[in-house]
Amino acid sequence: MAPSSPELNAILTQRIEVAPGLVIMRVAPDGWELPEFVSGQFTVLGLPGTAPRCPLAEPEAEPPARPERLIRRAYSIASSSLQRQYLELYVALVSTGALTPRLLALGIGERLWMSSKISGMLTLDEVPENRHLVLVATGTGIAPYMSMIRSFLDSGVHRRFAVIHGAYHSWDLGYRDELLLLERLYPGFTYIPTLSHPHQEPVPWPGHSGFVQSVWSDGTLAREWGFQPTPADTHLFLCGNPLMIDGMIELLAPEGYVPHSKKEPGTIHFERFW
Ligand SMILES: Cc1cc2nc3c(=O)[nH]c(=O)nc-3n(C[C@H](O)[C@H](O)[C@H](O)COP(=O)(O)OP(=O)(O)OC[C@H]3O[C@@H](n4cnc5c(N)ncnc54)[C@H](O)[C@@H]3O)c2cc1C
Repeated sequence: MAPSSPELNAILTQRIEVAPGLVIMRVAPDGWELPEFVSGQFTVLGLPGTAPRCPLAEPEAEPPARPERLIRRAYSIASSSLQRQYLELYVALVSTGALTPRLLALGIGERLWMSSKISGMLTLDEVPENRHLVLVATGTGIAPYMSMIRSFLDSGVHRRFAVIHGAYHSWDLGYRDELLLLERLYPGFTYIPTLSHPHQEPVPWPGHSGFVQSVWSDGTLAREWGFQPTPADTHLFLCGNPLMIDGMIELLAPEGYVPHSKKEPGTIHFERFW
């Protein structure tokens, strides 16, 4: 990779390894300003095919046909929209993937491409202020919610806010400490992590086990909140694994929740990561 390539317009300024293959990255623009954005939106990161792959990744079945070209992928922004020095992204390694093995090989101070255009519809813009929010994520799907929480939790809007986060293991629960702290600080905020592989924990897991769908269907949230959320008072956000999103929509439909679109306002907002 040519480190001084003019295409590589951004610099990795922070790299926090949550677990092997799971990294929180902060990326700062070099010589340009980040545009305004709305929490929940995404940017695009890129690296050329000539960039090295990290040791955890598998070798590429087919190396890029034109290695000098940028490989680009979308990443939801986890940092607050009130702060525009850098964007924080939460990236999971897809070991056979084209971009993530290269992104995870980057060290602090190394260059990459970051889009100056930020887009996406998974925002709170079309949720009335008097509705409660249930933010459901698998894996790195928690990223857009971190931006929302970091931007709006103290905005004075009186609504309940719950994060239901599904991961394989406790050590994959990125942002857990921050969310636990916020839960203690804000009485209206509830954090429910759930593990799909609790039997692999080194010590017994005291929390919820199973998929995020089971947190919804077994009444955990209703018990936490003291009332059963309904489409009249609550909007749901779903982000991450497409199977989770389809499963949740199936569960929610009989309760009267309807997917939201620009044309037809609804109570389910979602973003599939692949
Ligand atoms: C709007 C949007 C926002 C996104 N935000 C994030 C984010 O915040 N963090 C993040 O890590 N990813 C995010 N993604 C996914 C990201 O854009 C890439 O698809 C992902 O990082 C894999 O890139 P890759 O080039 O390494 O793999 P590719 O070579 O593109 O993928 C190979 C195959 O792996 C599968 N795959 C892709 N992603 C995953 C995954 N996470 N887990 C399992 N299988 C997968 C797909 O079937 C894909 O065809 C987002 C996607 C979209 C559309």
